Amino acid sequence: DNAQPKKPDWIRVRAPSGAGYQQTREIMREHKLSTVCEEAGCPNVGECWSQGHATMMIMGEICTRGCTFCNVATGRPDALDVFEPGRVADAVKKLGLNHVVITSVDRDDVEDGGAEHFAQTIRAIRRQAPGTTIEILTPDFLKSAPGALEVVVAAKPDVFNHNLETVPALYPSVRPGARYFHSLRLLQRIKELDPTIFTKSGIMVGLGEGAQEVRQVMDDMRAADIDFLTIGQYLQPTSKHHRVDRFVTPEEFKGYEKAAFGKGFLMVSATPLTRSSYHAGDDFARLRAA
Ligand code: SF4
Ligand code: SF4
Repeated sequence: DNAQPKKPDWIRVRAPSGAGYQQTREIMREHKLSTVCEEAGCPNVGECWSQGHATMMIMGEICTRGCTFCNVATGRPDALDVFEPGRVADAVKKLGLNHVVITSVDRDDVEDGGAEHFAQTIRAIRRQAPGTTIEILTPDFLKSAPGALEVVVAAKPDVFNHNLETVPALYPSVRPGARYFHSLRLLQRIKELDPTIFTKSGIMVGLGEGAQEVRQVMDDMRAADIDFLTIGQYLQPTSKHHRVDRFVTPEEFKGYEKAAFGKGFLMVSATPLTRSSYHAGDDFARLRAA
């Protein structure tokens, strides 16, 4: 039986509504952009979109990987759309975003993994919306030609996020095709290449990991100089996806948050509904003001 256990009352999702929500929807449609908010069925979409905060997904809607927690279709993607960086920048400008999160599917079919496409998108946003801070959430470039990561780093995003997603022991069942230490090393390398970029990573909990394993991941992340951490409850997109082992309680999340700050992360978000891009802009603004 792959059904997830009954949702506790702390997983409450409000139906999306409001003027900001509608406007975001229209601008995305008009620019032919897809968002993770919708693709992943994110529980925060009402809240985020009504505040003009969204996570845009570039390089298509078909992924070359098949992570078992993820609702994005696996297959052979279309060719990269050279006009997409411009459309993303246009949408960011129209939405008047203070902070934008750009992410993508994994493109193992492209030689540089889409590194140049990411870099062009960053540069286009800088030109069109110089006041917007840019956060990217990238794939792992595991199968890309050497130098791919350097291309993205040279475009100078403000925040470079790559999620470890889960503890190493669960990689074969949760993130087949990825390697825990490769992802960790990628994050460390970003900091080595450009210490002015904030690095960020996150995991989902409730997949079957133990609390000790989570704390070990935090230590590994700090050893790789990662600045920001997100931890959220895994929710099963459909019954075909990895099952929810259990719902981690709000008190346990508090415990993780406390432990993480103790280990030296600059910013931590650890709540049941935390997603990698949840309130990313607010947190970043607060950090810069400090
Ligand atoms: Fe979109 Fe991220 Fe907000 Fe979810 S948390 S609605 S993915 S911006
Ligand atoms: Fe989903 Fe990313 Fe995994 Fe592709 S690489 S299946 S988009 S989580």
